[in-house]
Amino acid sequence: MDKKALYDTFIQLENDTNATLGRISEVKNEVEALVEENATLRIENQHLRDRLSDLEKQKEISKDGIGTEMSKSRLNLEKIYEEGFHVCNVFYGSRRVNDESCAFCLDVIYGERR
Ligand SMILES: [Zn+2]
Repeated sequence: MDKKALYDTFIQLENDTNATLGRISEVKNEVEALVEENATLRIENQHLRDRLSDLEKQKEISKDGIGTEMSKSRLNLEKIYEEGFHVCNVFYGSRRVNDESCAFCLDVIYGERR
């Protein structure tokens, strides 16, 4: 391989590598967006379940179940929070940067309810 061919090969390798890095970065962004969307959907799902169970309770006002149902929902939100996502209305489903704690989230999970 002469010097010119060697140099051309090197340039080609550099271009390919840059293109690959660009693609890696794109895919990484897509994965991050999907992960956040997934968290948002799980929170939304939990809220809908809460709403549904509230409606069912209103229909047949029974004494038992209420306490356990509420704590189950809070446990689900707490789990999502501990996985590093906001469950509060303010930042809903977005990642908690560096696991920063969030007063809004903590209120949703541990605060007085309604
Ligand atoms: Zn939050």
